Amino acid sequence: MLWRNLNLESLQHETFDVCVIGGGSAGAGCALDAALRGMKVALIEKTDFAAETSGKSTKLVHGGVRYLEQAFRKLDFAQLNQVKHGLHERRFVLRNAPHLARPLALATPVFNWWSGIYYFLGLKLYDWFAPGKSGMPPGKWIGRRKLDTLFPGIDKRIHSAIVYYDGQLDDARYNLAIVQSAAQSGAVVANYIELQSFSSDNSGTITAAKVHDRQSGKVFSIHSKIFLNCTGPAADSIRLKANPVLNPVIRPSKGAHILVNMPQQGSPCALLIPKTSDNRVAFAIPFEGRMMIGTTDEPCDATENEPFTDEQDTSFLLDTINPFLEIKLTREHVTGGFAGLRPLVGVPDNSRHTRSVLRDHLVEFDERSGLVSLLGGKWTTYRLMAKDAIDLVAQKLNNSSVCSTENHLLWGAKGWTPDFYKKIQSEYEIDADVSQHLADKYGICAVLVAQIAKETPALGERLLPGLPFLKAEAAYAARCEMAMEIRDFLARRIRIELTDAGSSARMAPEVARIMGAELGWNEQEQNRRLQQYLSVLQNTFSNLTT
Ligand SMILES: Cc1cc2nc3c(=O)[nH]c(=O)nc-3n(C[C@H](O)[C@H](O)[C@H](O)COP(=O)(O)OP(=O)(O)OC[C@H]3O[C@@H](n4cnc5c(N)ncnc54)[C@H](O)[C@@H]3O)c2cc1C
Repeated sequence: MLWRNLNLESLQHETFDVCVIGGGSAGAGCALDAALRGMKVALIEKTDFAAETSGKSTKLVHGGVRYLEQAFRKLDFAQLNQVKHGLHERRFVLRNAPHLARPLALATPVFNWWSGIYYFLGLKLYDWFAPGKSGMPPGKWIGRRKLDTLFPGIDKRIHSAIVYYDGQLDDARYNLAIVQSAAQSGAVVANYIELQSFSSDNSGTITAAKVHDRQSGKVFSIHSKIFLNCTGPAADSIRLKANPVLNPVIRPSKGAHILVNMPQQGSPCALLIPKTSDNRVAFAIPFEGRMMIGTTDEPCDATENEPFTDEQDTSFLLDTINPFLEIKLTREHVTGGFAGLRPLVGVPDNSRHTRSVLRDHLVEFDERSGLVSLLGGKWTTYRLMAKDAIDLVAQKLNNSSVCSTENHLLWGAKGWTPDFYKKIQSEYEIDADVSQHLADKYGICAVLVAQIAKETPALGERLLPGLPFLKAEAAYAARCEMAMEIRDFLARRIRIELTDAGSSARMAPEVARIMGAELGWNEQEQNRRLQQYLSVLQNTFSNLTT
């Protein structure tokens, strides 16, 4: 359970061992790791957990087949290490929250035998680099007929496909599960708390941070022995607040996705498109009943404004997928989309392109201010990134504790099995699609949502007919998951904003009413927040669907 008001009191009155700035996957991972080592931990997030990059990824838990190809083509051992790190971490991500992450079959379509041999050998190598007991079935080469059943609607010219396995996660909910686990282990966490500036002692070492509560408007200070910067694409701005002479190192790169309603029956299998027009790979991945197509990779200097999927991104992604489909997709099929900024570190060759910049991470200690920064990395390696950062924090604090996140089951995972939904279905007399959705998103905590629905029958209704989301989820999100805004619920707790912007807009008034009742918004406040949300939605999606 996340108790914001209680946590705000602690943030103002206690002194922490480490204050983590940024509640994406990196910051949440650090908070959990440090709390499990017995440190006194604060975690602050400017908006909502996973509101930035960590809620806008392609949602793959992977070593990166493309990096493997680049490693061999360029004999680049750094790329190879990165693939190994990813494949090593993949099994922990899947094992520690099996309700939120699972194996995903990906088919690489090929147009002839020769390409088939090339990709088959490549993917065998990828399997080979995965550590033993990776839990993934081995890759295989499948014929046309099998491909038709695996991915209905594939273009007739495609000869066959190489199928391999990686992981897929619900990134924002996984992020939240890490935050909840950190809180359960003693970390004091709060969203909508923005770091504004640091204050230092006579030697220049940071001792406190001035922060702004973006819900109440209050400004206060947090005292901590160490401050750990996990702000992803915004990391340079925090580094420069701590020490203005540091050189900026982050090269943000925008990646956009669209979500489409496939004309053919939905497939449980993803497509890896081996070569885009700008020499990268792209994916079409089933997500929440839609096909998610991504991504682009464009350098982007502005980290202040929220990135969104524009007209050009939509055209590029449709042009990328269409050669592989029998019925071509148009803008009419697009129901949602989102874009994020990759927090890439450094530039290898002074070019403007970010597609060849390494996705591995770096832990930096600034001698002058004492700020620790965790830079770069990817979702898949969040646990390893956190371990490296907290090892350094522990060393600075003379704390000899060791990392124990490898085998730490995350919030909602203990006791969960793939047929857990049957228990909720029979005990609470809930429809099969709803109980499956609740079990998959909340793990064993699905019973808490079901309990709310049982106690207040009006909250046991669906938010929209035909979709598995209950009104009780909005109440639960406000009560127990620190959802403070309508968007926190629609975009990050149930993900409907990403997959189906129209349904998100239709649900918003009821969500405003339910959350308002939980959080004490009067009618005027409910309306204000609703209009604000609808205008964000309009700005974000008007470019996408017109
Ligand atoms: C399009 C795209 C696709 C990707 N796909 C994959 C994938 O499939 N698999 C994979 O492994 N990786 C993927 N990645 C990479 C991965 O998503 C990122 O590396 C990871 O999510 C970064 O996490 P983070 O915590 O460092 O940054 P963020 O998630 O951006 O978190 C930083 C947080 O800091 C907060 N913050 C900023 N300033 C302040 C402040 N002043 N005070 C308090 N808080 C502040 C922000 O609000 C933000 O929530 C993808 C990235 C992108 C952009």
